[in-house]
Amino acid sequence: MKKVFVLALALMIAITPLAGCNTKTPTSSNAESKSTAQDQSADIVVIGAGGAGMTAAIQAVQNGATNVVIVEKMPITGGNSVRSTGGLNAAPTKYQEAQGIKDSVELFVEDTMKGGKNLNDKELVTTLAKNSPAAVDWVNEIGGDLSVVGMFGGASVKRIHRPSDTSAVGPMLVKTLNKKVAELKIPVLLNTKADEIVLDAKGAVSGVKVTGKEGSYTIKTKAIVLATGGFSANSDMVVKYKPELKGFNTTNHAGATGDGIVMAEAIGADLVDMEQIQTHPTVNPDNQTLYTEGVRGNGAILVNKEGKRFIDELKTRDVVSEAILKQKDGQAYLVFDQKVRDSLKAVEEYFNQGIVTESDTIEGLAQKIGVDASTLKTTMNNYAGYQKAGNDTEFGRKSMEVPLTSPKFYAAICAPAVHHTMGGVKINTNAEVISKEGKAIPGLFAGGEITGGVHGGNRLGGNAVADIVIFGRISGSSAVKYVVEHGGHTEPTIKVEAAVAEAKPQVQGNYKDGTYTGTGNGKGGALTVEVVVQGGNITKITLKQHSETPGIFEAAEKGVVADIIKKQTTEVDVVTGASKTSGGIKEAVANALKTAK
Ligand code: ADP
Repeated sequence: MKKVFVLALALMIAITPLAGCNTKTPTSSNAESKSTAQDQSADIVVIGAGGAGMTAAIQAVQNGATNVVIVEKMPITGGNSVRSTGGLNAAPTKYQEAQGIKDSVELFVEDTMKGGKNLNDKELVTTLAKNSPAAVDWVNEIGGDLSVVGMFGGASVKRIHRPSDTSAVGPMLVKTLNKKVAELKIPVLLNTKADEIVLDAKGAVSGVKVTGKEGSYTIKTKAIVLATGGFSANSDMVVKYKPELKGFNTTNHAGATGDGIVMAEAIGADLVDMEQIQTHPTVNPDNQTLYTEGVRGNGAILVNKEGKRFIDELKTRDVVSEAILKQKDGQAYLVFDQKVRDSLKAVEEYFNQGIVTESDTIEGLAQKIGVDASTLKTTMNNYAGYQKAGNDTEFGRKSMEVPLTSPKFYAAICAPAVHHTMGGVKINTNAEVISKEGKAIPGLFAGGEITGGVHGGNRLGGNAVADIVIFGRISGSSAVKYVVEHGGHTEPTIKVEAAVAEAKPQVQGNYKDGTYTGTGNGKGGALTVEVVVQGGNITKITLKQHSETPGIFEAAEKGVVADIIKKQTTEVDVVTGASKTSGGIKEAVANALKTAK
C-alpha cells in the first residue's frame, strides 16, 4: 500500500515524496529522519515554489499536464515573491484605458530598455510587454486582484497594476497562487532542495536529484522548470560577481542563494549579465524592511541628514541608491504626510513595525529625527511650491502627487540594500534554457529571477512581478508542449493525500478548561488569539486579530498552531521563513494560557 504522509509544517498540500513501502517519514519539523528515500517520477518538476514556479505549475496544469510536482527547499512557499511590494507592469490594459492612460507595448519596451541601460535582450522584453495585459487578466482570473494603476520609477506613464486596496502585491499574489495550487492538487514538496539536474546520454533532461528530510533521491522527469529565484541572499556569490557590494545588507529571503543558476551552469547553461545586481534605495537599515517605491510614487520625498533633498526621487533604483550612498552615513529619510499614508495601505506595515517617526509639525519631525528644523521646513516649503507650480526646478521630478502639507508628517530612515539579481540563466522567448553553445537544452525551462536578460542593467519596479507571471506562464506552457512531444502526460505519481489534517493532542495537557485570549507581537504588530481548553487539553487556537503578511501568515499559523495542540506546550519550533509571525502566535498563546494553569 502506498503511504503518503502530510508534513506537520505543510503550508497546504505539501506531502512527502515517499510513495513506496518500507519508508518512514518524519511527521514533525524536529522528528528524527530514519528513512531511506525512494526515487520518484513525474512529467514536469518545477523547482522553486515562488511566484514564477507556482505560476508555471498552474499554467502547466491548465494546459493539460497531469503529473506535475513542485519542489521547494524552504518550509513555506512564496520565496522572495511574497516580499514584493509594488505591482505588475502591463500595457496597454483595460484598467489603464478606464483611467484614460495612453500606453503601448512599444512604450513599455522602450522604458524597460532605457531603464535597463539597453543591456536587456530586446526579444525577451518584447515578449514580456506583449504578454503583459494577458498576465494581469490571468492573475485576476485565478482569484487575484490587480486593478489599480499607479506610477513607478522609470515608467513614462502610470503602468503598474496593484491590488485595489493598495496593499503590497506579493502577499496577494502568493496567497492567490497557493490557493490555486491547492485547488489543482499540485503536490508541493516542502523542505526539499534540488541539488542536481540529471541529463541522459543525449543531453536531455531526465531527472533531478533532491534532498528532503528523509534523505536524497532522484525524481525522474521529462521536463524541469527552474524557478529558484535570484542570489541576492548569497553574499559570496554577490561579491564574486560585483565586489563593490561586499558588506551590503539584502532585502531578500534566506532561500535566494542562486542554487538554480549553479545547477544550470553545471550542465552547460549559458549565464548572462551576472554582474548586474540591483540595490533597492529605500530599505530600513536595521530590520531590512523595504519601503515600497509606491511611497515615493504616491508623493514622498527623500531628504538627507542635513534636511535637504538631493535627487529626483523617482529616478531609477540604481541612480537613487547611488545618490543616497553619497549622503552622510549613506542614509536618507523618506519623508511623507498623512495624504501619502492614506493613499497606500502597504505603509501601515512600517507603522506596525515601529520604524516610522511621526509628528504633527515639520519642526517636530525634524527634532525627533535630529535634522535641522529650519532647513527641513525650507525644503518642504520649496517642494510644496514646486508641486503647486508643477515644476521641480531643483531636481526635475515629474510626478508630484501631493504638496506634503497635510499633518501628520512622517519620516523613515533608509539605505540601499541588495535587492534583485538581474543576471542569470540565458533563456529564449519560449523560456528554454540556452547552453553555452547557443542551443536549447532539451527539457529544461526557466522563468523568473533565475533568468537573465529581461532587465538588463537595472530592473524597473513592477517588472519583476511581470517577469515571474509572464515567463512563469511561458515556461509552464513550453514544458507541457515538450512533454506532449516526448511521450505525453501520465497519471500523477506523487499523490496529494489531503490538506493538513486537524491537529489532535498527542499528550495529555494540564490546563483549566475554558476559553482564553492572549496577545503577542508578530511581524506586523500585535496579534490576538483565542485558546480553547477542554478536558485539560488545548483543543483549538483561533487567530482573532492580526496584521501579518498573507501568504507567510498561513504557513506560520498552520505550523505553530498544529504543533502547540499536538505537544500541549508553546515550546515548539518556529516556522523558518515565518519566524516572527510564528513567534508572535506562540507568545500570544502562552499569554492566554497564563490564566489557564
Ligand atoms: P521568483 O520571483 O523568480 O519566483 P522567488 O524567490 O519568489 O523567485 O522563488 C524562488 C523559490 O525557489 C524560493 O521559494 C526558494 O526557496 C526556492 N528555491 C531556491 N533554491 C532551491 C532549490 N535548490 N531547491 C528547491 N527550491 C529552491
